[in-house]
Amino acid sequence: MIPDYHIHTCRCGHARGEMRHYVEEARKRGLREIGFADHVPMYWLPGERRDPGLAMHEGEFPDYVAEVLSLTEACQDIAVRLGVEVDYVPGHEETAAGIIAGYSFDYVIGSVHFIDGWAFDSPHQLEEYGRRAIEDVYRDYFQLLCRAAGTGLFDIMAHPDLVKKFGYRPKADLAGLYRQAAEAFARAGVCVEVNTAGLRWPAGEIYPALEFLKICRMEGVPAVTGSDAHAPDQVGLAFAQARELLLAAGYTEVALFRGRKKRMVKI
Ligand SMILES: [Zn+2]
Ligand SMILES: [Zn+2]
Repeated sequence: MIPDYHIHTCRCGHARGEMRHYVEEARKRGLREIGFADHVPMYWLPGERRDPGLAMHEGEFPDYVAEVLSLTEACQDIAVRLGVEVDYVPGHEETAAGIIAGYSFDYVIGSVHFIDGWAFDSPHQLEEYGRRAIEDVYRDYFQLLCRAAGTGLFDIMAHPDLVKKFGYRPKADLAGLYRQAAEAFARAGVCVEVNTAGLRWPAGEIYPALEFLKICRMEGVPAVTGSDAHAPDQVGLAFAQARELLLAAGYTEVALFRGRKKRMVKI
């Protein structure tokens, strides 16, 4: 059994559907455990520069938490966990820590979506790929990912090779970058997320690549699973493929979280 721990909702401004629709869909697909992990408010920017199409307003965050908790209470047949997806932005670790400490999350997912202010995973900012060498983009991305893991703020590192989203890939072998990241994950005691959203984008494959996941396995990094659903019909999407990828990398278990404590279950 693998859980879907990466579910967004319409609250983030770029996803469709309310929480109850996602839960209904999870039920239909026979999932036994799910978790919401909507985007944290854009804490590193002054209020007027925050994009309402990227994350909910700060004032809405307590309602997000309350709605997840009420579903946890109401659902007897499916476990609903409270997660959050927190952007890593260097220099703003303390603010992030303050937000995370304010609520009783079951798990905290850490993400790198920005390289010095550039939202490299946004379909609206693709022109920047034309201005940078792709080797530099990958190097900078992986450096941030390692730093993010090392902050100790996160339980899970999201979509670990998100930088491949739009299909831009350097010619050079990526094993060195994968190894650095896997070692950073192992040192920090964080899990690697197997995220099926890459299948919906030009990358055309799950995050992370099999080679990267194998190195995580060799380093003893536990895995979790998520769809990164931005619409109810994406819940648990391609989880058979995620399971196959995990098995191919040598994983036989994934982590479940409650109150930021993990336990392992057979996949
Ligand atoms: Zn993300
Ligand atoms: Zn996400």
